[in-house]
Amino acid sequence: MHPNILKHINFENPAHQKLVVIGAGESGVGAAILAKQKGFSVFVSDANKIAAKYKTELQQLEIDFEEKLHTEHKILESAIIVKSPGISNKTGIIEKIQQQGIPVISEVELAYQYCGKSKIIAITGSNGKSTTTALTYHIFEKAGMNCAMVGNIGISFAKQVALAPKQWYVAEISSFQLDDIVAFKPHIAVLLNITEDHLDRYDYHFQNYINSKFKIIENQTTDDYFIYCDDDDVIQQKLNNISITHTNPLPFSMKHEIKNGAYLKGDQMMLRIQEERVSMSIYDFALKGKHNTYNTMAACIAATTVGIRKEKIREAVNDFQSLAHRMEYVATVRGVEFINDSKATNVNSTWFALESMNKPTVLILGGVDKGNDYSLIADLVCEKVKAIVCMGSNNKKIVDAFKKIVPVIVETNSAKDAVEQSFKLATKGDAVLLSPACASFDLFKNFEDRGNQFKVAVKDL
Ligand code: ADP
Repeated sequence: MHPNILKHINFENPAHQKLVVIGAGESGVGAAILAKQKGFSVFVSDANKIAAKYKTELQQLEIDFEEKLHTEHKILESAIIVKSPGISNKTGIIEKIQQQGIPVISEVELAYQYCGKSKIIAITGSNGKSTTTALTYHIFEKAGMNCAMVGNIGISFAKQVALAPKQWYVAEISSFQLDDIVAFKPHIAVLLNITEDHLDRYDYHFQNYINSKFKIIENQTTDDYFIYCDDDDVIQQKLNNISITHTNPLPFSMKHEIKNGAYLKGDQMMLRIQEERVSMSIYDFALKGKHNTYNTMAACIAATTVGIRKEKIREAVNDFQSLAHRMEYVATVRGVEFINDSKATNVNSTWFALESMNKPTVLILGGVDKGNDYSLIADLVCEKVKAIVCMGSNNKKIVDAFKKIVPVIVETNSAKDAVEQSFKLATKGDAVLLSPACASFDLFKNFEDRGNQFKVAVKDL
């Protein structure tokens, strides 16, 4: 894609131009609100039922919409389409739109078109996006910046731009949003890590997913910054094949010294950004565990780059309250600690969860397998896990993967049963960790529902 595809669209004066939004979730409805406000003639189409909350928003703003169908002729007469991130290019209606050559953009692209002089910190990666976005926002807010947190976390970027524009946007950006950008240009791009995920949307080619993540720096210039994890092999490999001299690289590493960026020296995080030199003890970080040290490093670089004072950064990384469902401490019941990491929906995040455990652990695993390779966590399981409690409608793959290395494997199919069984298997001084490495929708509505049911079951013990 190239900005040229938008040359027929007059974003400054869009009156009478038709814009269709496909998909009416947080992102699609946000796009519709912004487009309507700017003067497009907007129509929203969703093949499924639209949630009541979003229907009300559309009705209040007199935005035309349909649900449970796509009226093709109405869609195909549009000048431009905004596609919601949940919709695959393989969907029939999207294929038809593409055949007609109608430009397709994502909601963040639309928001970007109306950002004016405001600046964007765009945070992407396979894991850690929400945590890093929330922490970065917390630092910015504490430092008194005029800012908002947008994207998958919180309200959509487009809705924020329409209803309460700010000078800074701290945005969580998924690969699906990046797939359909054109001119989107973050002042600071953060790439946390890349591991295999969502391959069903990328023709099962990991390289396509990697390329999508790297689109975050595509439109950057020498006034912008690119913060990335220098310890990530996938990122490294890609960097060996491309040039990033069009932006300012600011890597972070726990393994080696970095000239411009951040690194660890013992238990100190060392920041070197241009003339600025800062060191902070990682024991003062509110977020614990190796993965969170990476996330904190990324957020601190972003904050230092925009000139936030080190005292403010120190204070903010220290009093940040971690998000629910990510290594969330739930309770200690008769000496057994319960931790809710329901957001771990792939093997990589479970790896980091286990890595941070320092007690014998009963691990609750399972759900909808997205093509997991459990051998990646075999060593850590061997070292730290005394029993596995499976929690899914089909647990065969997990049982097969671990039956030779874990003495006890129990199968359950509800949060209540999983918690009760885990409690029986644990003894004083142990931990029970829900870090399922799988999606949740076989037994639960989503990862929040899974985490909440887990917490209720723990409280019931
Ligand atoms: P995302 O928004 O990318 O899904 P979250 O911050 O919600 O990321 O965290 C998702 C899961 O990944 C949680 O289980 C969390 O403990 C784990 N995690 C967080 N940061 C990282 C990281 N840098 N690397 C690997 N796993 C991580």
